[in-house]
Amino acid sequence: MTQASLVVADHDHHHLNPATAKTVAAASHLTPNAVHIWVSAAPDAPPATEAAQLAGVTQVWTTADLDPEQATATSVATHVTPLVNEHGYHHVLGPNTTFGKDVLPRLAAVLGRPMVTDLSEIFDTWRYSRPIYAGNATAHISAASASGIVASIRTASFTEAGTTEQPGCVSAAPEPTNAPPEHARVVTRQSSGGNRPDLQNADRVVVGGRGLGSAANFERVFEFADAIGAAVGASRAAVDADYAPNEFQVGQTGRIIAPSLYIGLGVSGAIQHLAGIKDAGTIVAINNDPDAPIFEIADIGLVADLFEVLPRLQTAFGAATTAQCEVG
Ligand SMILES: Cc1cc2nc3c(=O)[nH]c(=O)nc-3n(C[C@H](O)[C@H](O)[C@H](O)COP(=O)(O)OP(=O)(O)OC[C@H]3O[C@@H](n4cnc5c(N)ncnc54)[C@H](O)[C@@H]3O)c2cc1C
Repeated sequence: MTQASLVVADHDHHHLNPATAKTVAAASHLTPNAVHIWVSAAPDAPPATEAAQLAGVTQVWTTADLDPEQATATSVATHVTPLVNEHGYHHVLGPNTTFGKDVLPRLAAVLGRPMVTDLSEIFDTWRYSRPIYAGNATAHISAASASGIVASIRTASFTEAGTTEQPGCVSAAPEPTNAPPEHARVVTRQSSGGNRPDLQNADRVVVGGRGLGSAANFERVFEFADAIGAAVGASRAAVDADYAPNEFQVGQTGRIIAPSLYIGLGVSGAIQHLAGIKDAGTIVAINNDPDAPIFEIADIGLVADLFEVLPRLQTAFGAATTAQCEVG
């Protein structure tokens, strides 16, 4: 039985998702300096070499033959399960990203283990906490040590593990004895957001709400976000009204984000939305209703029509960038 934890890496086949480094940091709380990581990449591919350089990672397991375009929860579970069983990992962790939300429950089911979702604090090896009731309460959880656990990590609650000069070992993961089930296959993959920063890892996020009024008007959010190098998010009302795609949703049932700057445009600040931005640094709200609940938590609140304010803000940011360039 190993004393290490196993992290299932999320990556885009070019680089590790920063959420993976945060999960490694969480795993280091459980098993300091003994974190192993499974990466579906060739041993010399960037995701594997980046994983080896993360502080605390002593072993990288790679599976090179997993077709990235066909990687489903079932195929990942088929590869990770024998690794967990062979090495007796008590803790199998992954980030609470789209990838982790897809893969980890399947893995828990196949391993026959309990799953702890959205783990936000680690007290010791078997005691954790996670937010409940839209982040308004915290549940303290004790896991039974007998079977081990699978856990998803609330990445907003952990800072990324640093890098080390002494990379961990990189080895091929054992071949699974069973072929992956064929009942699930990837039909198509679509990504949205273009070249903008990833919503869940972005340092700045601009969120558009129902106050935008239409999908055409929501384009203003994209323009403004691009002007300040921010990711774009949306409230559920904006998603439901088809102003923005579903994966942009921020909140209890959307993405949990922790940017240093959040700007909400025409967002009322419903409790379910605020659950997603609890760890944000500076919260800026622009809303024409002075009684909007978002002003109760905003660090900077502007009671104004967003359509009047946005062009002026954009010009001001543009001017500031130009001034910086001239000085530099
Ligand atoms: C179980 C459950 C889960 C949910 N999960 C989520 C979630 O994950 N994320 C989420 O966001 N919501 C979630 N919701 C929905 C949530 O309760 C709210 O309905 C939603 O957040 C409202 O979105 P909004 O602020 O864009 O819309 P509204 O509440 O309609 O607010 C629009 C705001 O825009 C302002 N406005 C209008 N015009 C302008 C203008 N020209 N200039 C400036 N301001 C203007 C208005 O004053 C208003 O405050 C959930 C609800 C439930 C029941």
